[in-house]
Amino acid sequence: MSIFSQIMAGEIPANWVYQDALCVAFMDINPMSPGHVLVVPRLEVATLEELPGDLRTHLLDITVRVAAAQRQGLGSLAQHVLVNDGKAASQTVPHVHFHVIPRYGRDQIATMSRIIWHVATLMLPPSVSASKRARLASQAEQIKQAMS
Ligand code: 5GP
Repeated sequence: MSIFSQIMAGEIPANWVYQDALCVAFMDINPMSPGHVLVVPRLEVATLEELPGDLRTHLLDITVRVAAAQRQGLGSLAQHVLVNDGKAASQTVPHVHFHVIPRYGRDQIATMSRIIWHVATLMLPPSVSASKRARLASQAEQIKQAMS
C-alpha cells in the first residue's frame, strides 16, 4: 500500500484540499513553494499510462481547478504542474500524482533553492513541526474555500 493510499485510508494525517469518488488533493508535506498540492487518484498505479483515460482526464481537470484555487485563495500568479512519471524520473512514491506548485512572481531564487532542498531531502522522513502543520492547514483551508 503506498503512503498516499495510507493517507486516503486515514492511517496518516494530511491537510485536505479536495476529495471525490475518483481522486483526492492534499498539501505536500515538503512543499517546493508555499501552497504546493498533490492531486492523487484513489486507484493505486505508478504511472500515467496505467490509468484509464477518463480518470487521467478527470485528474487533469481537478489539477486545473486546484491551480485556479491557489491563484484565487493564495494570490499566486501561475504554477508548475509536474508528474515524475516513474522511478527513473525521480518518482519516490510509486502512486501516480500531479504536483501543483504555485509561483508568486519575483520568487525565482527562493523557489529554486526550495526545489534543490526538496530533491536533496526526498529520501529522508518528512519532518512536520506544529508550526509547519498549522501553516499547511491554513493554506489548505484557503485553497479549499476557493474551490467550493
Ligand atoms: P515524487 O518524488 O514521487 O514525485 O513526489 C512525492 C511527494 O510526496 C514529495 O513531494 C513528498 O514531499 C510528498 N510526500 C511524501 N510523503 C508524504 C506524506 O506522508 N504526506 C504528504 N502530504 N506528502 C508526502
